[in-house]
Amino acid sequence: MKLSDLLSAGEVALVGAGPGDPDLLTIAARNLLADCDVIVHDALVPDAVLEMGAVDAERIFAGKRGGRPSASQEDISATLIRLAHDGKRVVRLKGGDPFVFGRGGEEIRALAAAGISFRIIPGITAGVAAPAMAGIPLTDRTVNSSLAFLTGHEVNEASRIDWASLVTAFPVIVLYMGARAMPRIAAKLLDAGLDAATPVAVIHAATLPGEEITTGTLADAAALRMTAKSPSIVVIGDVVAARSIWRS
Ligand code: SAH
Repeated sequence: MKLSDLLSAGEVALVGAGPGDPDLLTIAARNLLADCDVIVHDALVPDAVLEMGAVDAERIFAGKRGGRPSASQEDISATLIRLAHDGKRVVRLKGGDPFVFGRGGEEIRALAAAGISFRIIPGITAGVAAPAMAGIPLTDRTVNSSLAFLTGHEVNEASRIDWASLVTAFPVIVLYMGARAMPRIAAKLLDAGLDAATPVAVIHAATLPGEEITTGTLADAAALRMTAKSPSIVVIGDVVAARSIWRS
């Protein structure tokens, strides 16, 4: 089987939609979207990507969007199982990559437990796409040989992060879902010993209309001299200074 082969009746494809621009879809994502019965999508998937879907495919919104209550993970999994049992060819479309802060793991475990056949199509995760669009190399031989992907929710829940170890092990940190938590995370990184002059980039709505890139320092981020709107990727580390601007 090729990843881009059309779905069978009752099959679910968990598909990464990439950061937003339809040009960054995989060939498999494009093929499966173009010939499926139902698209179950998250809020982060823009209309331009949904428009790549079969004209007659049913669209089901399953995610958070301003004020509306979010569908629970159990409800989403139950919906996917019901659609598959009805013999539909289902594309479960998620922003970025389905397995990076995307709860894809929970969904495939539910599908597997229900005996549904499924396929996984990786997508370009925002934490990789956004820095590329901003001309920031995530690794640079002069700066780092490791990098960390972190969720901003880490400061809200009981944090599992050892911040001192984090800054020692990872010279570059890529923060997802960090729009609100950025000042608190910056303060934690300063406390953990990271230099106040460490460069920071906030990349808002990468590859989407309204994209904005701002840069500053860790001290700026902690002191609210830099802010981030959702959705943003925040890159913290000297690679930000290695930036080459390649598009206006
Ligand atoms: N599975 C997704 C991440 C979902 S978590 C992925 O792999 O990309 C949602 C977070 O992703 C947002 O809060 C933001 O940090 C980031 N994000 C997603 N799309 C983005 C975009 N176009 N520009 C900037 N950040 C984005």
